Amino acid sequence: MSQVRVRFAPSPTGFFHIGSARTALFNWLYARHTGGVFVLRIEDTDAARNSEEFLRVIYDSLTWLGLNWDEGPKVGACGGGDFGPYRQSERGAIYKEYVGKLLATGRAYEKDGAVWFKLLGERHEVFDEHRKKTVTKVNNAPAVIDDRIRGHVERTEDEDFVIVRSDGAPVFHLVNVVDDIAMKITHVIRGEDHLSNTSKHVELFKAFGAPVPAYAHIPLILKSNGPGKMSKRDQGALIEEYQRRGYLPEALVNFLCLLGWNPGDDREKMPIAEIIRLFDLPGVNQSNARFDEKKLAHMNMAYLLELPADEFVRRAREFFTRLGGENSSAKFALAADETFFRAVMLLCQPKLKGFEELPAYTAYFFTENFPVDAAARAKVMAKGDPAARLSELTAALATADFSSDTAIEEAIKLLAAARGLAFGDYQPVARLALTGTNVGPPLTGLMRVLGRERTLARLGRFTP
Ligand code: GLU
Repeated sequence: MSQVRVRFAPSPTGFFHIGSARTALFNWLYARHTGGVFVLRIEDTDAARNSEEFLRVIYDSLTWLGLNWDEGPKVGACGGGDFGPYRQSERGAIYKEYVGKLLATGRAYEKDGAVWFKLLGERHEVFDEHRKKTVTKVNNAPAVIDDRIRGHVERTEDEDFVIVRSDGAPVFHLVNVVDDIAMKITHVIRGEDHLSNTSKHVELFKAFGAPVPAYAHIPLILKSNGPGKMSKRDQGALIEEYQRRGYLPEALVNFLCLLGWNPGDDREKMPIAEIIRLFDLPGVNQSNARFDEKKLAHMNMAYLLELPADEFVRRAREFFTRLGGENSSAKFALAADETFFRAVMLLCQPKLKGFEELPAYTAYFFTENFPVDAAARAKVMAKGDPAARLSELTAALATADFSSDTAIEEAIKLLAAARGLAFGDYQPVARLALTGTNVGPPLTGLMRVLGRERTLARLGRFTP
């Protein structure tokens, strides 16, 4: 069998969303699974609705997700190839040539300034009640689509249709098919919303005498709450948003794989190499997949938790850098000593749901001028004698060993035992004094990372 060639063919008419990313991903997975070629083709014939900004987002998002294209517009390490140009706006001459072929073989004709595709078969006129006009119907055999996901589908085209508008602009159906022929696409993997176009496309392939590619129409993604298809306007729909919020692309990719596909068992978190090994079109579900943002957040947390230390620190720094100087937490964090920054990040890693929490969660490490939460203060002050606990703790920690969490814990426990108290009697007020809140990483880890000097200074400065 010849090499698999698939394409992702977005139109840059809106921001890159979950549905597009999943279509790109399934094409990419199929190419990687079969050792085929993944082509990126930009369907930008609709000049009025296209924008360079949307195009940039497509390149950025695919690159961020790791969906590298073998052929297509040259961006970074991706693209190039023998079947270009890969932007439809630059392929006008090719479309003209193909339309010429249809006109020459009598499979197209001009009427009212437009070019129409001519179906084969006996013709008769009928009055269409709906459109309130007489139309020409053609007795045409159904196009049979042996869809790799949907199974056997038949649809009949029974009216000629426009392929070049009177303003000279070639229509989607034409350019889509011409490019699939010219780029030698073997498998068309796309959203189910295109299933209804497929009979037109099959007619065109046949008229050009070209082999019809295999089709695989992927089920829709339903919005997380209620019926209906997820749209670009729904909460959580835009890929850029996840990038901005510091989601891990590998977590998002893993999550997207499961929107309509599963490995045949109940595994969810899987390395991409394993997904590539197992992915195949018959494994894609026929039923619609529901978008579940909570599940995505959970997946992200699981990936975050297992990032190796160096990698976690590198990405945390990258996230802060992207937030930039406008965010004061980021500014202070980036100005901090590298060893201290690393220690803070690794202490907080197991506690984080995502990088977006990082600035607020770690702010008090990087400045002495942190606010004290009023509710937390009220709660801590209402119990026992916090002022006494604080001065006892300051005295005990002045000589304690700060080299490990257990050493600090021992010191506090020793102090507590001598007073007939427990570790828990010291913890709330100590945390409040050190962080201004009543939540955060374990107290002893917090003290170790802050170090003796900073710990004592904060305990001493705090006025209950
Ligand atoms: N440009 C079309 C879209 O964005 C792609 C159609 C196809 O994949 O065949 O929906």
